[in-house]
Amino acid sequence: MRAVLLGPPGAGKGTQAVRLVEKYGIPQISTGDIFRKNIKEGTELGKKAQEYTNSGRLVPDELVVDLVADRLLQDDCANGYLLDGFPRTIAQAEAFDKMLEKNGQKLDAVINFEVGYETLMERLTGRRLCKACGASYHIKNFPPKVEGVCDKCGGELEQRKDDTRETAEKRIEVYEESTAPLIEYYQKAGTLRNFNAEKDPAEVFAEIVAEIGE
Ligand code: AMP
Repeated sequence: MRAVLLGPPGAGKGTQAVRLVEKYGIPQISTGDIFRKNIKEGTELGKKAQEYTNSGRLVPDELVVDLVADRLLQDDCANGYLLDGFPRTIAQAEAFDKMLEKNGQKLDAVINFEVGYETLMERLTGRRLCKACGASYHIKNFPPKVEGVCDKCGGELEQRKDDTRETAEKRIEVYEESTAPLIEYYQKAGTLRNFNAEKDPAEVFAEIVAEIGE
């Protein structure tokens, strides 16, 4: 299965991706994770991406598209993948359509997460991630057993640089402006599936599976 997770920052794409990866046995390709890894490692790509990610703006399309094209050609994507955070602009969606066409492939579903502004802000500003294994927590909705410590590996929890109130607001604004037009794009293509992602993650997951099949 080839699917795109679409929705504003804080909608729960990453949370659902963890469950979907396990269920369908396909990799999650998160462009945000790829950028964060490159920034941490100080690669050329990381250096170029950093100023954009830190301020909540989008990394330019030309830096994103080639990266995804290469990633999708790797062996683990042979049976499908879940794209998380890509495409984020109409230009990226068009480039992605070309990649699929070139590879003789089809996109099965665009899983669109619908969430209101207040919920997004609450989720983003309360989110904490494990420095070591990347596991995600929330200070109110999903706290770790011991404050600041990962339940899974004992690693230290931290807030993402772009999860501060000011940058989160900017990211939601950028989503509305540049990414929300993809809803209509995929509606027209017939691949869009809408989900109310205000609900509990387990409920959202069950609805996704019911819609896209076992
Ligand atoms: P995310 O983890 O998906 O919230 O992405 C974090 C940041 O990485 C975004 O705010 C952007 O700066 C950058 N980014 C991730 N994916 C893309 C993309 N497809 N196009 C442009 N920028 C992206």
